[in-house]
Amino acid sequence: MMKEIVFATGNLGKLKEVNDIAKDYGIKFILPGEGFNPVEDGDTFEENSLKKAKEAYRVSKKMTLADDSGLCVKALNGAPGLYSARYAGSQNEKIEKILKELEGIADRTAKFVCCMTLLDDDGEIQDVYIGECQGEITTQRAGSNGFGFDPVFKPNGYNITMAELSEDEKNKISHRSIALRHILSKLISS
Ligand code: IMP
Repeated sequence: MMKEIVFATGNLGKLKEVNDIAKDYGIKFILPGEGFNPVEDGDTFEENSLKKAKEAYRVSKKMTLADDSGLCVKALNGAPGLYSARYAGSQNEKIEKILKELEGIADRTAKFVCCMTLLDDDGEIQDVYIGECQGEITTQRAGSNGFGFDPVFKPNGYNITMAELSEDEKNKISHRSIALRHILSKLISS
């Protein structure tokens, strides 16, 4: 039997991503269930990740993992950062906005950040880890895989965007997979 852990999200794209990775560890993530309504008003990725985890534990009363992630752009002083999900209306509008804000800017250095928090069966913090994926913002969108800012993010060492990578390739290098693999390896060896 695969071990089930609640994943504190309503984003099915993220749930699929984490489950693709988790199957290597014999773990299956499930949604928190009805009533999950996190308020992400923390000042850091760590705080928001803990708030989401606690809210998912409140509704599920099961071991819970939460992530809080975002895109940090150097020339924008780390924006949209914590506010990545609320940066603009649709994903399309978010991409348009970031390309516009970076028009004419040469240094397009950026990183994806993901903080994961694992709560144990009693709702106590068991592990916290931050994964990062360094890269840059392209000048035009390319690719249709992934979600969010993937079509305009080129990871370091690649000549294509995150949205042009296959799911397996993204899962080798992404901020989320780095944090998740760290937490799951520790969990299964504990
Ligand atoms: P969260 O759901 O609060 O973690 O917000 C994450 C937001 O950051 C998403 O809505 C995306 O805009 C962006 N983001 C986080 N991870 C990724 C990724 O892997 N690819 C593209 N965009 C991402």
